[in-house]
Amino acid sequence: MSNRTISMSDRLYDYLLQVSLHEPPILKRLREETARHPQARMQISPEQGQFMRMLVQMMDAKRCIEVGVFTGYSSLSVAMALPDEGRIIACDVSEEFTAVARRYWQEAGVDRKIDLRLAPAVGTLDKMLNHGEQGRYDFAFIDADKGNYLNYYERILKLLRAGGLMAVDNVLWSGSVIDKRDKSEDTVAIREFNAALHKDKRIDLSLVPIGDGLTLARKRF
Ligand code: CA
Repeated sequence: MSNRTISMSDRLYDYLLQVSLHEPPILKRLREETARHPQARMQISPEQGQFMRMLVQMMDAKRCIEVGVFTGYSSLSVAMALPDEGRIIACDVSEEFTAVARRYWQEAGVDRKIDLRLAPAVGTLDKMLNHGEQGRYDFAFIDADKGNYLNYYERILKLLRAGGLMAVDNVLWSGSVIDKRDKSEDTVAIREFNAALHKDKRIDLSLVPIGDGLTLARKRF
């Protein structure tokens, strides 16, 4: 028994997967294809994908935003949980990575739900705001360049409806957030991001220690 979050050994993690993971075969195949990729660590874990599918279902989300598509595991996960009329605005800058994503979206029959915007995401989000889309989104997932996390966060907070949810990946950054000697740009950016959200009265906050740390920020009003 414990009154803090349990630490996860490899064996316990295997057990967690064994008794809880229901990964659709197409997601498993995409995960295996991506694992051969040199930047494979950018992919979210399968239990995190399943957790995000559950969030989307619980919220009855229809309009979603993703910043950072990579090879599409998270967008495919979320799209499969969305109703027919559900939509994801998916932002990324890599033609190469998203080509893999598009192939799987198509095969899963969810490509019509995903609107890929190949451009720097700050610009894409600004355009959405300029088109009056404030308050119109239910769910967003941020998993991209860490130096821009606060820029994405501020814009998406405007785009979410009251009660809308933002999930932000890698907020524990393999534990390096507590390594005082680590002054790399990404680590510093994540620390600043975490500290800023902790003070932010516009949201309800929870940092979930799943994957590499997933922050949930629910827009209050
Ligand atoms: Ca990530």
